[in-house]
Amino acid sequence: MDKLYIKKDIRSLSLSELSKQLVDLGEQAFRAKQVYEWLWVKSCTSFDSMSNLSKSLRDKLAEHYKIHGVQVHKSQFSADKTIKSTFKLHDHHLIEGVLIPAPDRMTACVSSQVGCSLTCKFCATGYMDRKRNLNADEIYDQVVLIAQQAEQNYKQPLTNIVYMGMGEPLLNYANVLRSIDRITAPDGLNMASKRITVSTAGIAKMIKKLGDDEVRFNLALSLHAANDAKRNEIMPINEQNSLMALAEALKYYYAKTKNSVTYEYIVFNDFNDELTDAAELAAFCKHVPCKVNIIEYNPISFADFKNADGDKIDAFANFLKKKGIITNVRRSRGKDIDAACGQLAVKEKAS
Ligand code: SF4
Repeated sequence: MDKLYIKKDIRSLSLSELSKQLVDLGEQAFRAKQVYEWLWVKSCTSFDSMSNLSKSLRDKLAEHYKIHGVQVHKSQFSADKTIKSTFKLHDHHLIEGVLIPAPDRMTACVSSQVGCSLTCKFCATGYMDRKRNLNADEIYDQVVLIAQQAEQNYKQPLTNIVYMGMGEPLLNYANVLRSIDRITAPDGLNMASKRITVSTAGIAKMIKKLGDDEVRFNLALSLHAANDAKRNEIMPINEQNSLMALAEALKYYYAKTKNSVTYEYIVFNDFNDELTDAAELAAFCKHVPCKVNIIEYNPISFADFKNADGDKIDAFANFLKKKGIITNVRRSRGKDIDAACGQLAVKEKAS
């Protein structure tokens, strides 16, 4: 009986691995560069379209490998020009990504996992199970497809990428770092690392690993409370990653990378919107050089949280500014299409 042969996703191979595999198939090693360019620069999803390769090489590639391309399944346009897309993966799972246009930037918000295991109480994704991690090429494809939307709809190139969609990026560490390597590589999208931000719910061990790997992209920590009791209530991950453990990890990270950190803070009505909460946040800000992004909350049907009053948000932000902390208030984008922060959750079943 024939042995069952499962074709490998060709984009899981590094350039040197691909060179070696091509030599094993009787081809010259330099062909790998051409194939790599088709895969990563031209985002080609069919071996047949690789027109500068011989027919026999294209046939060999198709015989041994697959290209697991991601497709746009559906896009929704917000009145404020935000575009939320549902993307379909090769195994029919659905994920979401968002294009957030602003006068001075075009930002892609991408997912790193199908669902999420972290159950943050205010987040729609936290109410879905984690199905699997995304591969590096699936994260990369979201960026490419959102960049195309920016060009097609607004005639602008993508300027920034945030890993703030579905999933906890640091629980899919290798794939997230490889996707960033491909996004920043000259034989990839050639974007600057400083234009990329990875946002974590706070996994101390992995923040230290980012330090050990001396990463050059930006790190954001979704803090939302600088008090363990409150943080435990809304982010169960805090029970194993207390504020003290996070502060220690951030100091280690900063010592290794010299990168400042951004704290994301959603101000919930009657939960973390008092000046005593701001004072706790200001104290936490002393650990490493940082800035604070205050984010408007977008209620979801699963949970009872509400956005704080505008006056309270302003008072909160002013308190931090008076303490010398760089503080930005981020107004919500795309909430009419459930594309805003904390609202991503695929509502339809994969087919
Ligand atoms: S906020 Fe992030 S880490 Fe928390 S449940 Fe949502 S997707 Fe997961």
